[in-house]
Amino acid sequence: MWKSSSIPAGDLAILEDSIRQASRIGIVPHTRPDGDAVGSSLAMRRFITECFDGGKEVRILLDTDMPDAVRFLLTQEEKEQTLVCEKDKEAVAGFLSACDLLIFPDLNQISRCGEIAPLLRDHDARRILIDHHPTPDTSAFDLLFSETEVSSTCELLYHILVRLAGLRGVTLPKSCLDPLLTGITTDTNNFANSVFSMTLGTVSELLEAGADRDTILAHIYESYPERRIRLMGWLLDRELVITEQGVAYMILDDACAKRFGILEGETEGFVNLPLAVDRVKMSLFLRQNGDEFRVSIRSKKGWSAQRLARGYFEGGGHEQASGGKLRMNDKAEAAAWIERCLKDFLAHEQ
Ligand code: 5GP
Ligand code: MN
Repeated sequence: MWKSSSIPAGDLAILEDSIRQASRIGIVPHTRPDGDAVGSSLAMRRFITECFDGGKEVRILLDTDMPDAVRFLLTQEEKEQTLVCEKDKEAVAGFLSACDLLIFPDLNQISRCGEIAPLLRDHDARRILIDHHPTPDTSAFDLLFSETEVSSTCELLYHILVRLAGLRGVTLPKSCLDPLLTGITTDTNNFANSVFSMTLGTVSELLEAGADRDTILAHIYESYPERRIRLMGWLLDRELVITEQGVAYMILDDACAKRFGILEGETEGFVNLPLAVDRVKMSLFLRQNGDEFRVSIRSKKGWSAQRLARGYFEGGGHEQASGGKLRMNDKAEAAAWIERCLKDFLAHEQ
């Protein structure tokens, strides 16, 4: 079992030293940031601003904007300080140009930063990874905190920050608690998957310290626009396909999304729904985005969402939760591709 004490003291000392010496720090999570990416970035930023000497400029740099559901975590100042590449690439490039430290939470390779990745080529700032995905690109970072036996980056970061606080002779700032609990909650799908024994201990400590789980749950799971649940019902009724082998898939094209008025991020979690069916072993959800479909894949134990994502959708992720893309712009064509690749995939799996 992974324990907080497994984090090497030497690595924590380097992290502390790197932050102390840096004057401009960029925090860069993965593109299409989820609760874990935003929560860990925000907790990291708050820790640095509250536990280190002032005078540092610390910014969260997002490739694409964060989901509305997690915006409640940020103060107005934090919203203004967050730079989003798809909205203002020059601002991101400008900030990066003078960064002397880059922290990458919740990703395992630089390419996961989307359009920010090319801006990092030949950048000589120190690079520190904090992540829970398998197979990190070790050559791309100067220091790695990489652990897969945790629910989320936020869970790992909690233990890193507690120990870092110890090194600095302070306690973990209260402002870090809700962002961290948010990431643990969303990455475990509200404690349905990826829960390790340490996870519940970690959450217990967060609650004891004052994390506000009720507020987090209200924002994340009880604040959806009505159109989301209407679309969900429509998709489950009309669009869900379940193959004989127990693979479910649903495809949402731009036309249908438009009809329901659905915005980016509002289909979060749809991929999990078919897994409630007894004979479904794996589920795919495709969401058209211009000339490609974003692909989300989830599987039950014994089936590898990751192998399917890597082999057929230019993606990857965790064993049971992965994603990728399909470069096509037609729903029927996408469905035909899925049927073909499932045949191939299942022939190799058995
Ligand atoms: P989601 O289905 O929530 O978008 O993604 C689930 C997981 O799959 C993420 O936590 C991430 O690890 C992984 N993932 C999603 N999209 C990609 C992708 O394009 N490339 C890679 N390598 N991993 C992805
Ligand atoms: Mn994560």
